Amino acid sequence: MQTRSLSARDQQVIWHPYTQMHTAPAPVAIVRGAGALLFDEEDNSYIDATSSWWVNIHGHAHPHIAQRLAAQALQLQHVIFSGYTHPPAVHLAEQLLEILPDNQRRVFYSDNGSTAVEVALKMAIQYWDNKGSRKHTFLAFKNAYHGDTFGAMSVSGRSAFTRVFDELLFEVQFIDLPTPENISRLKEEVNALLASGVAAFIFEPLLQGAGGMLMYEAAPFEELLQHCVSKDILLIADEVMTGFGRTGKNFAMEHVQTKPDMICLSKGLTGGSMALGITTCTAAIYEAFLSNDKLKTLFHGHSFTANPLACAVALASLELFTAKDCAEQRQRINEKHRVFLQELQEMKAIKNPRLLGTVLAFEVATPNADGYTNKLADHLHQFFRDRRVMLRPLGNTLYVLPPYCITDEQLDRVYECIREMVASLP
Ligand SMILES: *Cc1c(COP(=O)(O)O)cnc(C)c1O
Repeated sequence: MQTRSLSARDQQVIWHPYTQMHTAPAPVAIVRGAGALLFDEEDNSYIDATSSWWVNIHGHAHPHIAQRLAAQALQLQHVIFSGYTHPPAVHLAEQLLEILPDNQRRVFYSDNGSTAVEVALKMAIQYWDNKGSRKHTFLAFKNAYHGDTFGAMSVSGRSAFTRVFDELLFEVQFIDLPTPENISRLKEEVNALLASGVAAFIFEPLLQGAGGMLMYEAAPFEELLQHCVSKDILLIADEVMTGFGRTGKNFAMEHVQTKPDMICLSKGLTGGSMALGITTCTAAIYEAFLSNDKLKTLFHGHSFTANPLACAVALASLELFTAKDCAEQRQRINEKHRVFLQELQEMKAIKNPRLLGTVLAFEVATPNADGYTNKLADHLHQFFRDRRVMLRPLGNTLYVLPPYCITDEQLDRVYECIREMVASLP
């Protein structure tokens, strides 16, 4: 019989992501979830205020999703996706193309956000190659985060995450986030880079997640996108975190008129229940790969491409997402956040409080530099964990990014803990 706690057993055998195992406290063992709550071994409940790493949108162990998963598992759990297809993959692609920006025509499946980005990068390079031009540079924003595999790391801002690998990453041109003041300069910077052969511009539209929940304005962004379009630079919208309602619209690209050439999706795609990645593209991108020449094929695929279970779960999640009450819930969260935002604006210890859709973020003022390695992070993490609120700061940046089903009372409790944290600061 096992007598040690799950958490103690974990510490003997597991290596956790983004965790300094030498100093990290023992992990909390979560045994079940319901709505925005997660329960540990002693049945203590925790409010999931960060949607379990930004993936959850409808709450945990949702019965509709669970039932569809079980039904699919009894039908077909997986099949090779080259030369074969299956109903959930086709239905999901049809349904998604209905709600994505209307220039998107094809769905390429993979199994997580990083792979969705890798696929987009490869599509961009090979698109130009198939058309007989060589363009090998990418444009990206400073502080961007596009994933942890090498290609995705390369187009991510150079940071503590990439430091050890910097010399192994391919070259990418980084520009500042657009503002009304710097937009003319940014356009000149883009012009100066054209000679190096820019294949594509990859960006997190309006909200940079891991880079620190940084938000930027739609108008100068639109101007930058239009400029890139005029210079034949493909646009890759990485909506892995902004997709599925996070920013107040179904997809963040709906805040601007310009339509991207490719879109990357994951995280909320399955409602946060299973791993699935999608890269969509326009007819123009897709058609550049059609040829009698086999070398023009996109040679990319993963064993679990378009896993039927994941696709079935994504379809179930999409049904919940497109229902009227989901939009209402997002609106409700935005309004509650807005009220608390005003309170945050009055607090001396809080810097740059900001809000977009269901995402509320701010920095906690500290004597040390802002950023991911800011020492305050561990303290904050523990502070909220002790109060059974799951808030995981990015350095001294705190953010509330809840599942859309979070109740008003649960949100109030999260705000209350933030007030308490601010009051406890030296
Ligand atoms: C999380 C994230 C990724 C990477 O997704 P994974 O599934 O964690 O590999 C890529 N882009 C953005 C914008 C993300 O937030």
